[in-house]
Amino acid sequence: MTSSITHIYEGRWNRDVYVYALSFKDAKEKVLNHSAFGDPQLDEYAIGDKWASAKAADGWRIAKTKRRVYTVVAQVVGDPGSGDTAHLVWQCPLCRRIYSEGLTSDAKPPMLVMCERKHKKVYAIADFRR
Ligand SMILES: [Zn+2]
Repeated sequence: MTSSITHIYEGRWNRDVYVYALSFKDAKEKVLNHSAFGDPQLDEYAIGDKWASAKAADGWRIAKTKRRVYTVVAQVVGDPGSGDTAHLVWQCPLCRRIYSEGLTSDAKPPMLVMCERKHKKVYAIADFRR
């Protein structure tokens, strides 16, 4: 199994990681589209919609961080062009769990995926062909 130490971007509310991506732009977009991003007064799933302004402040931040990242080969199941939801199917290299994640029509390989089933967070770069 192949792995390397790679910079990734985590979208966090305080210390909790909600999204992760291979670029700052993708991580920020994922935060903005996440159900936890919003006004908790108006939305029961939301935890907040403000960005942290200083180290100690509450809020969202995009953290560039170095992680060990594995490489996995993933398969696309379903055809987004036909109106179906396409799924990215991949297997965790450590615990062997198989994941099937929804794939938006604009998602391009490689994509950062994560497992935290029987171990701490394990990130993997999933390569796939559409
Ligand atoms: Zn796993």
